[in-house]
Amino acid sequence: MNSFSSQTETKIQFTAELIRQAKHAVILTGAGLSTPSGIPDFRSTGSGLWSKDEPLEVASLSTFRTNPERFFAWFRPLASQIFYAQPNPAHLALAALEKANYLKSIITQNIDTLHQKSGSKTVIEMHGTMQTLTCTQCYHQVNAEPYLAPFVETGKIPHCPKCNQILKPDVILFGEQLPQTAWTQAQKQARQADLVLVAGSSLEVLPVAGLPMQALDKGAHLIIINNMPTYLNVRADAEFFEDVSLILPVITERVLHG
Ligand SMILES: [Zn+2]
Repeated sequence: MNSFSSQTETKIQFTAELIRQAKHAVILTGAGLSTPSGIPDFRSTGSGLWSKDEPLEVASLSTFRTNPERFFAWFRPLASQIFYAQPNPAHLALAALEKANYLKSIITQNIDTLHQKSGSKTVIEMHGTMQTLTCTQCYHQVNAEPYLAPFVETGKIPHCPKCNQILKPDVILFGEQLPQTAWTQAQKQARQADLVLVAGSSLEVLPVAGLPMQALDKGAHLIIINNMPTYLNVRADAEFFEDVSLILPVITERVLHG
């Protein structure tokens, strides 16, 4: 068992109580939720994915269009890490909360599909997904796995089975718009929420970072679990700086079993 300070224990109890009483609890998850699964934050410099030769623009739509070989060379280590990653206890805890009907939806900035792999059903992916690839010419969409496996193994760029044009991972690159459907759903969830949890997100990437504010404006409670403070910690009912993979299972256990 993990032992937390008595102050943290009190906050755990308080948070569990808020979750139990909430009618519409929503969680916003970010890169910090998947770092315990070994996945770096592809949008954050200093994550180890970037070098001097590979500036931010390599993960952009324009590089993908003009120099797909360069894009895919950069993308391969990330795809490999995501392809082999497993959900960690934080993902599993959220799946358990949803299953017990304490959590209405997960709004995530992650593309790694680990929420789905852990059994979560209502997952709104704000930055796209590694689950599918779409043809840049005929827009045919394919399940990523049969294409990613050989790509990760050999570096062979995936091509459309219908027209042989290059397939683009359905992740949102720099210079690309957020998926409209996901954004509409997320805003709806934020406005309906009477409790918002933020886990593993520093709330730095707009417009997703503004979602908790929409809920706060409607009077929702806010819990923030992140290893560093965010701009909204001053508005939070409780804040945790502990590892999400340690604290979320304990909170969940308290919600489910008292
Ligand atoms: Zn095609």
